[in-house]
Amino acid sequence: MTQEILMLSDGYEPWVDSLSKKFPVLNVSNKELLKALQDREFAVVVLSRKRAQEDDWALCKDVRSKTRALIAVVQQSSLEPPVRMAWFDDLLDPAAKEEFFLRVDNLLRIAEANSCYFSRKKGNGEEKNGRWPQFFGTEGFIPPFTVFGSTAIDREVARNFVKLLTSVLNTTATFVPISPSPPWLAKDPALAPVEYVGMPYCRTAGESPVRIGGVSPCRYARWLVSIRSVIERRAVVLPCPGGLVLYACPVCLEFFNVLYPLGALVAGVGEVPLGGELVKIGQRLKISVPLLRERAGIARTMVRRSEKAAAYQLIESAADYLTKEVSYRYNTAFQEYFQAGVCQELERTPLKQEYVPAALEKAERLAAMGKLAAGLIHEIRNPLTSVRGFIQLLSEKKSAGDQEREYLDVVLSEIDRVNEIIRNFLFLARSGEFRPVKTDLDRLIREILLVVENQAALKGIEIIYKHEPGTPEIQADPEQIKQVMLNLIQNAFQAMPFGGKLTISLYPEPSGNQVILEVADTGVGIPPEHFSRLGEAFFTTKEDGTGLGLAISYRIIEDHRGRITVHSEEGKGSCFLLKLPVTIENENGDSARDDSPRQK
Ligand code: ADP
Ligand code: MG
Repeated sequence: MTQEILMLSDGYEPWVDSLSKKFPVLNVSNKELLKALQDREFAVVVLSRKRAQEDDWALCKDVRSKTRALIAVVQQSSLEPPVRMAWFDDLLDPAAKEEFFLRVDNLLRIAEANSCYFSRKKGNGEEKNGRWPQFFGTEGFIPPFTVFGSTAIDREVARNFVKLLTSVLNTTATFVPISPSPPWLAKDPALAPVEYVGMPYCRTAGESPVRIGGVSPCRYARWLVSIRSVIERRAVVLPCPGGLVLYACPVCLEFFNVLYPLGALVAGVGEVPLGGELVKIGQRLKISVPLLRERAGIARTMVRRSEKAAAYQLIESAADYLTKEVSYRYNTAFQEYFQAGVCQELERTPLKQEYVPAALEKAERLAAMGKLAAGLIHEIRNPLTSVRGFIQLLSEKKSAGDQEREYLDVVLSEIDRVNEIIRNFLFLARSGEFRPVKTDLDRLIREILLVVENQAALKGIEIIYKHEPGTPEIQADPEQIKQVMLNLIQNAFQAMPFGGKLTISLYPEPSGNQVILEVADTGVGIPPEHFSRLGEAFFTTKEDGTGLGLAISYRIIEDHRGRITVHSEEGKGSCFLLKLPVTIENENGDSARDDSPRQK
């Protein structure tokens, strides 16, 4: 097991000396390089980019075929365009001095883990942990630079964020993974960006026959702004050719204090242009100006400064979440791999707990979502309320069969949908604001049933309510419990699109310290592989779902010091069982939450 670095330096490079001071380095000439590799094992081989990319990366390929050493390529100048290639493991920029050394350190760390693992396992690799396949190659654990956003970012989570941004901001949103050419040209749809275009104006501009690098100017702009944001590692604003302002936030993988960019989350924010400017845009993009004008008129929504700030914050938080999510998985995978390689043999410090981005336990994920909401709610909700009021006024002025009234009613119901999303967010934001009082669950359920009866009848769903007399009253926040019940009932309804039976039962636990509330349906059921994800914010399998219902419910039941368990069988139905204590002990605020698995 070696920690040595083999370096091929082409004459004078200012960083060579300092690298040699920090790490054990063997500096060789061209001729000596391959010989040195034959004689000894090295952890990392450092090559200059100029030398590395000669003859189509011939030297890298050669080193790779002869050794298991990781290959670092050093930029001559920060202005060279970044590349990502299969032939090396990191691209270092000496101008970013501190990071330069940290990145070398990370390569050594991974080289050591790999060499331990392979000397232990004789390299057959069969025990490679199947749960983290994105982070393993045939030669062991892959360095963060070789992790790709298109495969390592949880697509479903990205999809939900993009959808959410689209619907809340009424705009276009995209997760753009870094790739050498516009990722929209990817042959494999799984490698393409995650994109939603919610705004009619953007759709029109996107359909322009003009093409840059094979894609529409709008997509090209989204790609450019995302590249800029990942290079600069910060949020970047750039107007797209259609005039809308694009806001991009980098999504990175964080490993031992270094950020490795994977892609960016981009959303359109700001004003859609009108007037003379629109004519110019129409000509430039070769689209019919009247059509563009009409769509721009419809889309001209989110413009005010305060709203813009809220939108920025929302996009940043979402990108931040994706960053934490992928970092958490990578770091955990590394930690497990590291341990599988048997740590006592290791010379370097093992991965300490503190290096794992800690903020990802389920409860903290929800807190992150709450932060996300807080920036947004008040800013967007207030104008929305007045918009809704005026639209309603207009709608009421029209007579019943009027087509314009129908349009206005569609607008109203869409506003209600946005309001609903916002309300859900708000809920996640204000944890701790929970005021338990003595609550008669039986009465509460009867109240809820009054609300949902009609809907059930329309869907051909029979509701059965079983109540065991003598079930004690409990300490609870009635509004919150109502919300949980409505969420569970809503899900049950959605699971029975062709009708069925909904059974709600309320009964005391034998000990008398807890009461149990069951919501059972005869719907489609939940596949076992989804069990561990229930309660995760944004996990949804529904086309128009938000994936917030269960997240909120789990949070509320946790606040009540209760528990949710789920039984389900595919094709037969699901049962959500709430266990609630009669009295809530230890309710002084934010004491530790029980975060053990809640499903059976
Ligand atoms: P949403 O309803 O917006 O999808 P939820 O958090 O309420 O979000 O639910 C998350 C996911 O859990 C659903 O998309 C669905 O796949 C699954 N689920 C929840 N309740 C049920 C149920 N009663 N039957 C089947 N699947 C369910
Ligand atoms: Mg739901």
